[in-house]
Amino acid sequence: MAIDNQKTQIIIEDHVVPQLLTSAIEAYQHGDVTSIGTRLRNKLETYGLLWGYTLPARAGVPARIVAVTSTVEVSADRQRDSVDPIRASLKQKREFFETYWPNLELVGTFHSHPYKDLDEIKKNQGWRASGEDGDLGHWRGIHDEICPEYSHLAHIIVSVVCLDRKSTKWPERLGGNEAFTGYKLGAGNYRIWVKGYSTEREELADYIHEDEDGDAKANEGCNDEVEAFDRFGVSEEGYVLDSDGNILSYSDVEDESGFYVNEDIELHIPSLENRFSEHVNGRI
Ligand SMILES: [Zn+2]
Repeated sequence: MAIDNQKTQIIIEDHVVPQLLTSAIEAYQHGDVTSIGTRLRNKLETYGLLWGYTLPARAGVPARIVAVTSTVEVSADRQRDSVDPIRASLKQKREFFETYWPNLELVGTFHSHPYKDLDEIKKNQGWRASGEDGDLGHWRGIHDEICPEYSHLAHIIVSVVCLDRKSTKWPERLGGNEAFTGYKLGAGNYRIWVKGYSTEREELADYIHEDEDGDAKANEGCNDEVEAFDRFGVSEEGYVLDSDGNILSYSDVEDESGFYVNEDIELHIPSLENRFSEHVNGRI
C-alpha cells in the first residue's frame, strides 16, 4: 500500500501484537472469574499502554509513532461498555519504564470493544472510537495528565466478536476512507478489528488573534477548534471566554496548548498481515 508522507504513521511492531489481541480476547471470553471458578461477567473491555519511541516529522517524512512492547492495566475498571484505568497506575508505569527501560517511552494506549455479534458491531460501527464523553475525551485527558510534554500519542482500539463457527479470514484493510487507519481479520472463532487514532499537540494561537483592545478572538471559522480545548468558550461576537464566561486577553492565552484527536493517520502492523496471512495460506 502506498504511503502518504503527510499523515502521522503508527507502526505496531511484532512483539506488541499478541498482547493486543489476546488481552482483548481474554476479557471478551473469560471476563471476571471468582476464586471458585464461577464466571461473573464476560465480554469486558480491557486497557493497556504502548511503549516505544516517536520520530518527529521532518522534511518529506511524517511523524512516526513506533510501539515495540505493551503492558496491560490489570487494575482498570473493566465494564462491558467502558474501561477506565487508574491514573496513578499509569504514572507508576511511566516512572518504572523511565527508571529501568529509559530507551522506551510511553507512546500510546490500547483498549478493546467487545460486541455480541456481527450485526451489533456493524450497526454501531463498533470498531470506531466513542465520542467526546468516551474515547475522544479520555485520550485527550490521558495525553494532558500523563505526558503533556509529548507532541504525539497513538491509540489503538481492538474490537472483538465471537462467532459460532471457526473460520480464519485473511487480514484486510478497513473499508472506504478508513482503509489506512486499520485492519479486520478472522482468527479461529473471533472476528477482530484493529483501528488507530493519534492525539497530537496543537497551539491555541493557531486559531485565535488579538483584536485592537488586546482581547482574544477566534479566527473566522475556528470556533469549534477553540471550544475543543475544553476550557474555553466562544461568544457570539467571537471572543474567547473562560469557563465563567469572561472575555480573555490575548496575552493570557497565546501560549495555551491542547491535544486534538486525529483519525486521519496510517496504521501499519506488518506482522499482522504476515502471520495471519501465512496461517490462511496453510504455511503455519
Ligand atoms: Zn472505546
